[in-house]
Parts: sequence; structure tokens; C-alpha cells
Amino acid sequence: MKTELHPEFTSVPAAADARDIVGKCVHCGFCNATCPTYLELGDERDGPRGRIYLIRQLLETGQAGVNTRRHLDRCLTCRACETTCPSGVEYGRLADFGREVLERRTARSMADRFARRALRLIVPYRRRFEFLLRMGQVLRPILPRTLRGKAPARQQRLPVERGTHPRRVILLDGCAQAAATPATNDAAARVLGRLGITAVRVAGAGCCGAVSYHLSAHREARDFMRRNIDALLPAIEDGAEHIVSSASGCGVLLKDYGDIMRDDPEYAAPAARISALTVDLCELMHGEDLEPLRREGLPPVALHVPCTLTHGLGLSNRLRDVLARCGLQLTETRDDHLCCGSAGTYSVLQAELSARLLENKLAALTLDQPGCIVTANVGCQLHLATRAEVPVRHWIELLDT
Ligand code: SF4
Ligand code: SF4
Repeated sequence: MKTELHPEFTSVPAAADARDIVGKCVHCGFCNATCPTYLELGDERDGPRGRIYLIRQLLETGQAGVNTRRHLDRCLTCRACETTCPSGVEYGRLADFGREVLERRTARSMADRFARRALRLIVPYRRRFEFLLRMGQVLRPILPRTLRGKAPARQQRLPVERGTHPRRVILLDGCAQAAATPATNDAAARVLGRLGITAVRVAGAGCCGAVSYHLSAHREARDFMRRNIDALLPAIEDGAEHIVSSASGCGVLLKDYGDIMRDDPEYAAPAARISALTVDLCELMHGEDLEPLRREGLPPVALHVPCTLTHGLGLSNRLRDVLARCGLQLTETRDDHLCCGSAGTYSVLQAELSARLLENKLAALTLDQPGCIVTANVGCQLHLATRAEVPVRHWIELLDT
């Protein structure tokens, strides 16, 4: 698809990148078949091919409208379309570009601005988020049923021994996961300990920047990234083999630090180093001898593989392999490639569509009536738990016994 850049974009490197991405699209429409919003809404503009056309229009005319923004807002950035696309169209990068331009040029309603601002001011800050969660947990018994599900129960935490193994990795605590599901990384640290690896927690590291980045506050996201890079580098210099993320939503962004910061004269090289050293927990464990973790007779569980792990990192099969090698059996599920509707802040900002996707996902995950659902990202875990009738846990917790 040939695209002539509008004069105001001709000297913008990100616009040239976007034009090149658009240029790869051959309009075949295969991607629509795996796009959750297209399947749900049936509107071409709510599918990847239509959104690509809308961004192309923006690049050619320089005009940005609220209609275009509405269709991009409805996109989950799940990247199922990238997995399906035979031409290698990097839709996620294109959507990031389009959203950032539209955010600067179109006005949002006051309620919308408030919600987006509140999310940016709360979720990335562990203490603030924790405070809100505690309030929700205390008020839980008197909350209406619809809100009760949104306040996750407080997790029981078991002690983690201080590791002394010579092999060390940094285990990222992040923001939302540390506040809402701290049992995940506690379990990860104990399991890694059984594999002879010490998990180091770096106090100064926090939000990876994903919340801000996906709300098109790119400058703010870069500040989070710089803060993380500064906090992580000393532990890397000290001999940590990898930076391990047990939340695939964070891992996928950390692996992009190098690309996002490539024009930053001071941080480009360290950011690339962080990206190169980042691995998902299942990726690290896949390369280890898992025999010490193997158990027989575990009841089968349903696996929800987050979009960030499937489409973003391409690690779905590695996770399945790790679980199988540890003796876990999976129940039958369908539509594994479709998003659960969590998608970062999507479940708050696009609540109705998100709820429809959640309902579909839970039906697909419970075909075989599992006793438990496991997943690999805190956002999906919390979102699924709002309506699931069985416990929803991070998969690593099942290996921590
Ligand atoms: S990222 Fe997901 S929701 Fe967005 S266009 Fe692609 S498949 Fe559809
Ligand atoms: S599958 Fe790829 S090439 Fe085909 S319409 Fe979608 S983005 Fe374009």
C-alpha cells in the first residue's frame, strides 16, 4: 500500500516507520478473522485492516478525528493480528504511533480525561495501588456484587528464604503485581531456589512504563524506563544473569526498551542491554532441568495464555512445555488466541466490550470444568478472577509445593 506522507510528517522518523509498516499490508483481511473486536463488533474499522486504513489516512491528510480515535481506543493491542498476518505487518507499533498522534490532536471528554489520568496516577505506583486495593478489601463485604468482584482478596504470603546460590537473576516486582498478587513472585523465588538460582529483588525498580505507554503518555513512560534502567544496572553489573519477568505484560515492554529508547543519547545502549537480558519466567525455566519440580497426580487445570505471551513474546509453546515437564495436565479449552479483555487498562476504559470478551473467554476456558485456571500475567489473572467461579492463579504457584 503506497502512502504519501503529509508535509507535516515528512521529517518525523516515527511517521516514516509507520508509512513503511502500512506499506507491507496487502489488504488480504486474514487478520480480521482473529481480531477479537472485529469478531465482536463486525465493523471493518474495528478490525486491524480497517485501523491500518485509518492510520494511513492520518499519515496522508494530517487530519485526526475522534472517530478514528474511537476505533483505535477499541483495539486491545493484543497483537493477534500480527500472529496471523502473512506479510509481517507490525500492527502494534503502528497503533502506538497513531494513538500518540491522536492523543495530542483530539480532545477527550472530561470523564475520559479524568479516568485516564487517574489510571496513570495510581496503577504504576505500588503504594497508591496497594492503598486502593486495601480499601476495596476492607469494604468488600458491603460492596455491591458487581464491584465486589473487582476487589481481589488479599493474598496469603509465605516466607521466602534468602538465596545463596552463585547463580543469580533479577526478579522484577513491577507495580500492580507487587500490590495485588505478591504471592506470584514469592512462589517464583522459591521455585527458582529449588532449581539452584537465587532471585534478587531490586528495591528501586518499579513500573515498567506500560501503563503510561499504552495510554499514549510516551514521555512519562520513558521516565519510568530510565528509572528502571538506573535501578537494574547495578544488579546486572553485580553478576545477575537475567532480568526475569513473571508478568508477560511487563516482559514484553522490557524487551522493547531498546527499540523505544533508541534515540536517547544517554539511555539507548543501557536500554538495549536491559532488553537483551530480559526473559519471561517460563523462558528461563525452559532451559533448566525441571526434574526437581516434577509431580504426578496433579488435577488438570485450564491454561489462559496471555496475548502478551502468545502474540507479543511468542512463548506460548514454551510455557506449555514447562508445565508438561513439571507433570501438569491441561484441560481442553478453545479460542486460545483470543484476548480475555483485560489488556492493561482496557477493562476500565472499555468496560462493556471488555466484559463481553471476558464472558467468551471464561466459557472457552471452562469447557472441561477445570478446578482452577492458571495464567501468566497479573492483569489477566485479576480480570478473569472478577467473574470466574474457580480460583485463578499464576502458573508458578502450582509448582511451589
Ligand atoms: S491488536 Fe488485537 S484488537 Fe487490535 S486490531 Fe489487532 S487483533 Fe484486533
Ligand atoms: S493480514 Fe496483514 S496484510 Fe492482510 S490485511 Fe491484515 S495486516 Fe494487512
